Amino acid sequence: MINIDVINLGPMDNCTYLVTQGKEALLIDPAWDMNFLIHTLEEKQLHLCGVLFTHGHFDHVKFSQELLTHFGLKAYLEESDVPLAGLPLELLHTYQGDQTFEIGPFHVKIWATPGHTAGCVCIQIEDALFTGDTLFPGACGRVDLPTSNPRDMLASLRKIASFPEDTRLFAGHSYGGRCSSTVANEKLHNSFMRNALRWEKN
Ligand SMILES: [Zn+2]
Repeated sequence: MINIDVINLGPMDNCTYLVTQGKEALLIDPAWDMNFLIHTLEEKQLHLCGVLFTHGHFDHVKFSQELLTHFGLKAYLEESDVPLAGLPLELLHTYQGDQTFEIGPFHVKIWATPGHTAGCVCIQIEDALFTGDTLFPGACGRVDLPTSNPRDMLASLRKIASFPEDTRLFAGHSYGGRCSSTVANEKLHNSFMRNALRWEKN
């Protein structure tokens, strides 16, 4: 069983996720304050075996260079978002679309969910789905940015809705103080997801 810690960092309510199994750790979207994250890992005596980005926006990736260099790691990023990320290629493990990765003891399933950006993905580990800026509790990410696509967003919201109802969702920001939900909750309360599902029927 994995353990998930939510770490809120920076001025934009970013959620960085520390996923652990025993002493093995993954970081998802390490944002803003690398000193804090490095210190947290060392204090908990964790072994960082991987870093994954949900997409390439600066508030999710920009400051990670120091952390990646410190631990000698490459971060997983969908290829379409490499230009947005602006990180040196030698610090990135790039891939295309849906993927499965074995990282340390973690079985990581990547689901391509474009819309907010072309390279947005949701990251599934066990029953947890890290949705980045594709889905927030009760909302979805902006679709008016470079490489955004509103039609793709609708398909991506339907993709998330197709997960088992008790799937735990963890978003890229805690706007309104909340960053987690479930698929069942979103199908009831997220008007963007409901519209996406209704749109499919017509
Ligand atoms: Zn974003």
